[in-house]
This record gives sequence, C-alpha cells and structure tokens, in this order.
Amino acid sequence: MGYNIAIDGPAGAGKSTIAKQVAHKKGYIYVDTGAMYRGLAVYLLKNHILPEDTEGIIRACQDADVSIGYENGVQQVYLNGENITGRLREEAVGDMASKSSPIPEVREKLLMLQRTLAKEKDVVMDGRDIGTNILPDADVKVYLTASVETRAKRRYDELKAKGAACDIKQIAGDIKERDHRDMTRETAPLRQAEDAVLIDSSDMTIEEVTDAILKLCNS
Ligand code: C5P
Repeated sequence: MGYNIAIDGPAGAGKSTIAKQVAHKKGYIYVDTGAMYRGLAVYLLKNHILPEDTEGIIRACQDADVSIGYENGVQQVYLNGENITGRLREEAVGDMASKSSPIPEVREKLLMLQRTLAKEKDVVMDGRDIGTNILPDADVKVYLTASVETRAKRRYDELKAKGAACDIKQIAGDIKERDHRDMTRETAPLRQAEDAVLIDSSDMTIEEVTDAILKLCNS
C-alpha cells in the first residue's frame, strides 16, 4: 500500500494546484481523478451522447477505455489509446463530466482505476469522494474549499490570462450550479469526510496551503 493523501473539495478550490505542489515536494505521483471523468466526457461528446441519455452513457462505459499514464511526471489521459489530455479543460468537457458523474456505472468504472493507482504508488489524489469513498483509509485527508467569490475570481483570472472572453457573474453561477450537482447527487456526493482536515484557502497563499498539508503528513 502506498502513502495516500486525499484532497477533496468543490470546483475551483485550488485542489489541483495544491495537490501538484504537495506531490512535487514529497516526490509522490499526482492523480487528478476529475481528469478521468473528463476523459469519459470527451468520449460522450465525440459520440454525440447527451447528458440525459443515461442508457447511452452506461453503454459508453463499456466502449470507452479511459487510462492514465505519465510523461515527464505530468498525468496524461488516454481514451481508447489516444492521448486526449489537451481537450480535458474545455468548458463543455467539464460540464459533461459534472452531468455524467452522478451515474453509478460511471463511478464504478473509474473506481478501480483510482484504487489500483493508490495501492501501487505513493499518491496525492484529488477529487470529490476520495476521502469518503475511494480511499477511506488514506493516511491524510483534506477538504479544501474557498468562498464562491474567491473561486470565481481565480477562474476569471485564469481565463483572462489565456485571452478568453469571460464574465465573472456567469462563472460564479456555473460554480454554484456544479457545487449543487456534486453535493446533492445520490452516489458518492461531495462532502467532508469525518476525519478530514478542513482548509479554507480563501485568504491563504498557495505556499501556505501546501505547507499546512505537508505538516499533516509529518504528524
Ligand atoms: O475536478 P474537475 O473539475 O476536473 O471534475 C470534473 C467533474 O467530475 C466534477 O464536477 C465532478 O462532477 C466530477 N468528479 C467526481 N468525482 C471525482 C472527481 C470529479 O464526481 N472524484
């Protein structure tokens, strides 16, 4: 069993930035589970399967092979052998991932992939249900959150830096909608595990959050 650090939290809380930093400092592998849901979402979009088409999504779970690998330490996602990492951050892909992830068959499909990685390697794994469901015995569990305003502002700055047109109110609305979907779904909803440490990063720097998590690893 590897050393397992689980980081859960809502969209835009900074999970991936922080998890990458912690993984780098510890020399562990960073596992982005959202990217797996996004990988399946790329398949659904490519095959014009709608979010309402639950049967179609369940069938897709059998036809879509989602796997991950590492190139220079950076996680890559493969869909039926094709590297689709470049598409994962598209808005449509995130939206489809959020709408298809409540389906139990989708979660079941990706559960083994996540558990196998954590068993074989020392990992920092981020997602929504890692501490509650995927790795209930993780060595360190963190619930990382931030206010909706902070999360929307971070996403706005990120998109602006890329030169994309965006509206902060619309971003905040999308974040709230995604939080609601992730927290109210029946299967593996987003919630803080009882033994997880809550970190609100609204007024913290990346270094402060990273250090707080590294301290938990040594205690
Ligand atoms: O974290 P990220 O934004 O990449 O995740 C995309 C979507 O995948 C989330 O909105 C959530 O619905 C789903 N997800 C999940 N469980 C995880 C990781 C992501 O349900 N462990």
